[in-house]
Amino acid sequence: MSEAFSPWQARALDGALDALARGRLGHATLLRGPERLGKRAVADALARRLLCTQAEGAQQACGACRGCRLLASGTHPDFRMVTLEVNPNTDKLRTEIVIEQIRQLGEWFALTSQFGGAQVALIDPADQLNVAAANALLKTLEEPSQDRYLLLVGSRPARLPATIRSRCQSIEFRLPPHAEALAWLARRGGGDAGTALEAARGHPGLAAEWLDAGALALRAQVRDELAEVGAGTASAVEVAARWTADEQAPLRLRFAADLALERAGELTGAQPQARSGLTAVTAFQKLSAWFDAANRTRDLLRTTVRADLAVAGLLHQWRDACAGARGEAPTRRGTR
Ligand SMILES: [Zn+2]
Repeated sequence: MSEAFSPWQARALDGALDALARGRLGHATLLRGPERLGKRAVADALARRLLCTQAEGAQQACGACRGCRLLASGTHPDFRMVTLEVNPNTDKLRTEIVIEQIRQLGEWFALTSQFGGAQVALIDPADQLNVAAANALLKTLEEPSQDRYLLLVGSRPARLPATIRSRCQSIEFRLPPHAEALAWLARRGGGDAGTALEAARGHPGLAAEWLDAGALALRAQVRDELAEVGAGTASAVEVAARWTADEQAPLRLRFAADLALERAGELTGAQPQARSGLTAVTAFQKLSAWFDAANRTRDLLRTTVRADLAVAGLLHQWRDACAGARGEAPTRRGTR
């Protein structure tokens, strides 16, 4: 199964399986690190291995025993999944894991295993346990028991109380070395791996997602339109209307923010003959400020604010910053 995994996923899983083989796999394991690196798939594979009844001494679940088949069909009595649930009062998905879920988990763990083997619970996203739920989980962690495994998956582990983190073994996911990420992306196919990886600042999971969604063309378009607004050849209002006409608006703003940061980065390495040091510093500060503004505007899109107006305001700032960098006075708003 691990051949379908990326090299960094395979390393993480192999590490856990080695620990299991040596009898050193902890009662609680926290799979932590950036989103989109495949932590959950590794946790799932580990759960499969723990619940396989024919895997003694083997690295992988057999896929054929009763345990494997029940887990695959979602009906294994010794497996529990804890995740965000719909609030029955509002019919909306909760944004946190609540204490009731963890209490039920504790009660379930207190029962004996139906198959006489391991009991496995997976909590994802573990960093969205609320305070009461985290405190309840701590009780479970304080009473470890053989053959009970708790797998926690979280991309923002700092949100978990230190008391929980300290009771977990960590499997840390990090961005892989550039060459490894590039080779993996190239094997997947689907487009220009190098450009995608550069756009995603070395994050292969994000690059893969963008390749799959054809997002690089969108990024190139954002780059062109930013240049046009900056040069005063396109209207901020019209570009804002285009950027917010579909559900890609947040991704466009993400790309725009990244492109501003990229330009700021180029300035720090700028050749002294290109511009005076002072101008470069001012331009750098403006680009950094605009990066923040673009990200704030992206957050605003989730609220009820008029998206086109918010983005038009942002693009006016961009135009003024570019005009300032050329030594021109900012143009009056509303003229374009
Ligand atoms: Zn099996």
